[in-house]
Amino acid sequence: MPELPEAEAIRLPVIRFFSDGIVESIKRGNNKKIWIGENEYRLEELFLFTVRRTGKVLIFDWRITKEKPAVLLISRLGMSGTWLIQHLRDPLPDHCHLVISFKDSAHRLVYRDPRRFGRLEWAFEEECSVILASQGPDILKIPADDWYREARRSSRTIRSLLLDQKISSGIGNIYASEILFAAGLSPFRTGKSLSKRESYRILDAARQILESAIRSGGSTIHSFQTSLGENGRYQDRHTVYGRAGKPCLQCSTPIQSVREASRTLFYCPVCQKRQLRRKEKTLREALTAVQ
Ligand SMILES: [Zn+2]
Repeated sequence: MPELPEAEAIRLPVIRFFSDGIVESIKRGNNKKIWIGENEYRLEELFLFTVRRTGKVLIFDWRITKEKPAVLLISRLGMSGTWLIQHLRDPLPDHCHLVISFKDSAHRLVYRDPRRFGRLEWAFEEECSVILASQGPDILKIPADDWYREARRSSRTIRSLLLDQKISSGIGNIYASEILFAAGLSPFRTGKSLSKRESYRILDAARQILESAIRSGGSTIHSFQTSLGENGRYQDRHTVYGRAGKPCLQCSTPIQSVREASRTLFYCPVCQKRQLRRKEKTLREALTAVQ
């Protein structure tokens, strides 16, 4: 499932190839499940001003002139949705739901989604914030104190807080495991047990890991490819995700995996000890010493 770095690995080449490109034609498939709403917009003669991203959501900004916005296309990638940049001479891939051709371009832009959990939706600029209202700020932009405040209010695990797109958006299963290992915190800790310093450590780790994953074109676990049709490279740098039973890169203890809320979580039981347990142990040792 594409997370923030994978969405970015799709977005950046699309901007490089097609920003300022004028649409020649648009062909829409008939799968109704992919589309939210009944509206149809003619993109012909409009140009792609830019593609924005918030969390895992891509927003294509189509305009009449630079100052005159026309319509947005909001794209949620779901489990297997992706945008591909294709040479016109290449055959269209299977499971393709939207094809956009540009004037004077040897390439077209194709939305492909084999599992069809992705969603496409037309919207005007003023509707966009309402449509995305249930989604929290992008994890790379959320002020550290806001995230800490949300976490402190919750007795859920810090892993489920990182996955909660209403608090901050962009992180999924892969990066939640990687971030908590880098922060040296047990994924079973609760939000309300976090100190301010620990919550800053989580956000710092999130920024470093996500930025590095963006530079590597994301992670390819099953089938993810960037919009250029390339595999990501960040999977080679995973420290815990997908490494159950293999030695921890820091302490050689076997990495453990457990299922939580139908998703597998990976962690090192030594490098990510529960803080509370350690405190309790210290307390117990202190008591023994007194006796
Ligand atoms: Zn370890």
